[in-house]
Formats: sequence, C-alpha cells, structure tokens
Amino acid sequence: MQKLAIIGGGISGLALAYYLQNDYEITVFEKEKWGGKAYTQKVDKYLLEEGVNGFLSNSPATLELCEKIGLNPIKANENSKIRYIYDDKLIEIPLKPLDFLKSDILSFLGKLRVAMEFFVEPVCDREETVEEFATRRLGKEFTKRMMTPMLAGIYASTPKKTSMNAAFPKLKKIECEYGSLFKGMIKLKRGGQPSGELHSFEWGMSQFIEALKEKTKAKFIEKEINEIDELNDFDKVVIATPSFEAAKILKKYEKLSTLLNKIEYNPVAIVGFDYDEIKPVSFGILSVKEKSLGILMDKYIFPNRNAIRVMVGGARYPEIKDMSEEEIIEIAKNDVEKITGAKNPKFTWIKVHKKAIPNYSLGHQKLVKEIFEEAKKAGIYLHGNAYKGVSFNDCIKNSLFLSEELKNLVK
Ligand SMILES: Cc1cc2nc3c(=O)[nH]c(=O)nc-3n(C[C@H](O)[C@H](O)[C@H](O)COP(=O)(O)OP(=O)(O)OC[C@H]3O[C@@H](n4cnc5c(N)ncnc54)[C@H](O)[C@@H]3O)c2cc1C
Repeated sequence: MQKLAIIGGGISGLALAYYLQNDYEITVFEKEKWGGKAYTQKVDKYLLEEGVNGFLSNSPATLELCEKIGLNPIKANENSKIRYIYDDKLIEIPLKPLDFLKSDILSFLGKLRVAMEFFVEPVCDREETVEEFATRRLGKEFTKRMMTPMLAGIYASTPKKTSMNAAFPKLKKIECEYGSLFKGMIKLKRGGQPSGELHSFEWGMSQFIEALKEKTKAKFIEKEINEIDELNDFDKVVIATPSFEAAKILKKYEKLSTLLNKIEYNPVAIVGFDYDEIKPVSFGILSVKEKSLGILMDKYIFPNRNAIRVMVGGARYPEIKDMSEEEIIEIAKNDVEKITGAKNPKFTWIKVHKKAIPNYSLGHQKLVKEIFEEAKKAGIYLHGNAYKGVSFNDCIKNSLFLSEELKNLVK
C-alpha cells in the first residue's frame, strides 16, 4: 500500500484521512490540536467553541459522514430562526418576503430598490467585489444593512474586500443563468434564506473530531512539519494547513511559496461571557459597524453551552491582532452592553486567532488556479479552507473530492 502523509489535523485533513483509510497507509501530522478551528473548550459549566459554531444541514457529505461515524448531530432549537442586525438599533431579520415588506430593515426606497433587482442587467464578463455586486443589483442600503453583517458573520470580512465570484459562486451563477437573482429563486423555488438548518453536537464540535479520529485507521502524530523534505519517505503528501503555513513548508518551491503567501487572513477574537440576563433570546446579532462583528447567543440555541460568544475584529477591525486580551475583552464587553443592555458578566473567556479566516479577495480564483498548477508541478496536494470554500461543509465536501482523485491514482 502507498504511504500518504497529511499535514494538518483540522477537519480538512481528518476527513480526508477517513475517506482514504482503506486505500493508503496514512499518517496525519498535527502541530497544535486535533480539530484546528473546530475545537471546543470546556471551562466549568461552559462549552465554548474556539471557532466553528456549527454547520448547515444542506450539504449531504457532512450528514453522511456523521452517519458513517455513528454520531447524531443536533439541530439548533427554534430560537435559532430569530436573528438580528444592529445598526444603531436592533432590527429583526425578516425570514419571509411578506415580513420583509413589513419590516423596517430597509426604508421604503431601499425596498423599492431591492424590487428593481428583476430589471438589472446581469454582469457575467468580469469579477466583482460583493460590494459592487450587491450595490448594482440590490442597492446601497441593502449592501450596508444585509451584506455587511453577513460578510462579517461568515468571512469576518467586508463587502469591499471580498470577491463575489469566489465567496458566493452559486449566487453569481444564478445571476448569469437566469438574468436576475429573484427570477432564479422563483425558478428554483427557493426563498432568500439559507436552505439548511444549523446543526452542531451535544458536546460541541470536538465531539465530532474525536469520533472521526476513532473511526479512522491512521497514525496520528503530534508534530510540526517545517519542511517538505522531512516527508521524503512518503509516496504522497497532502498539505491541509492554512496557506501561510503551507508556504513555510514549501519554501524550497519559491514561486509556489510566494503565491501561497498572497492569500491574506483576517484576525478574529472570540470572547465568551455569561450574563444573568441577556436579551433578545435568539440566534444572535450581527453588527453593521462595531468592532464586535456579532454576538452569538449559544446558550439559547444549543444544550450545554451556558454562555454567549462575541466575534471581534475581522477585516473591519484588524487592529485586534496587536492588542492584549484585556483590551479585546473590554471592546467586546462595551459592545455587548451597548447593544443588549446587559450588565456585569459573571464569566469571561477569550480565544484570539491572529490569522483566523482566509480572505477571498478579488482575484482569489485566479490565484488559486495558479497555486494548484504550481503545486501539481511539485507533486504536492494542497487542501483546506484557504482555496475553494471556507465553511466546515466545504472542507468535508472538498475532502471527498480530493479522496476520489487520490483513490484513482492507486486503483
Ligand atoms: C472563529 C471562527 C469561526 C468559524 N465558524 C464557523 C462556523 O460556524 N461554521 C463553518 O462552517 N465554518 C466556520 N469557520 C470556518 C472554519 O475555519 C472551517 O470550516 C474549518 O474548520 C477549517 O478547517 P481546516 O482543516 O481547513 O483548517 P484548520 O482548522 O485551520 O486546520 C489546519 C490544521 O493544520 C495544523 N497545522 C498548521 N501548520 C502545521 C504544520 N506545520 N505541521 C502540522 N500541523 C500544522 C493546525 O494546527 C490546524 O490544526 C470558522 C472559523 C473561525 C476561525
């Protein structure tokens, strides 16, 4: 059997090892902790996710993987359907078209501009930022009130810094196939909201990571790989680390390493609090301009959580990467208390990711194509959330695709 080394024990590396366990003799190397950004801390009665909060049930690969390893995900309760944005005041996000018309999420003119989307010509011959796309199709107000919080929540980025084509390829495709988003949604019988429900695990994301490792026939070694030549004994190597780590490991391939370093990362700090009383009972609140990008009311949507978590920084406020934990906690506390009126947390916790999430900037898809061409020349496989999708679901789906490619090589 051929020997395969996988560098990086996040979900991308671990799911790949699971899928290939009967086709290769596998060793997974992890420098810090199994699960990477999917890691749950237990502090007293609190379960705190350092990164991934959960995943949507609209990706069959993730649900199938849960079934295969014998672990039932849990669905977030009904509170998770209640979501807010904060733009100097709390506004509930309407879920149905009729509620949208009644809601004060946009002004009358803002709503009228959204309705004009039907008549806006598609642009399919060039790449755009999310800001350009959303403003052109849905108007400035929609971009500010809906896209800014959404980008912060998913990518810890801003509409200006994100490529529409790389971050939301399905929406771009709908525009170009049907001429307008609304026309496409009607034809596809879809509403505007995400087509899946939020899931996690009773004891957090680490429960899934542990179960996945248990069901995988591989050697798991806790070791940092600094240089690709350390793995000369292996027939094949997959690097499933963040791209800036891959750049270090591949420094002997100068061009590839330079290209990998072009993918920027946004910093995010996650601050956990417990307040005796905090409202609104909901999934949480995404902000339009605060340094705190959003407040996730974990304790109201999943069992065993008991805390809320605040995401601070991102591309909106990258300065957090040079701040002390105390300074970041102060920012989060001030924002939570301003937005919700809660006072005096009885529990505080923090995790800072100086390089948390890759930013899919303008030119990302072209850059990834070049990176993969160079990697192919070097005989290296690159994997992970830096390239073709940042979500937990994307990482599992892409592990499945890569496993099929690697299986074909040893058939
Ligand atoms: C704060 C935050 C919240 C998020 N929330 C969500 C969410 O709710 N839902 C969602 O779908 N996605 C979320 N994401 C996105 C999430 O990052 C991805 O879905 C996924 O977890 C990334 O997995 P990965 O394996 O590609 O990378 P990582 O999880 O980063 O794993 C890479 C691993 O490689 C290891 N490594 C690095 N260098 C080396 C080396 N030289 N040698 C050995 N090992 C090395 C690292 O230690 C790490 O464990 C969130 C991300 C962050 C940062």
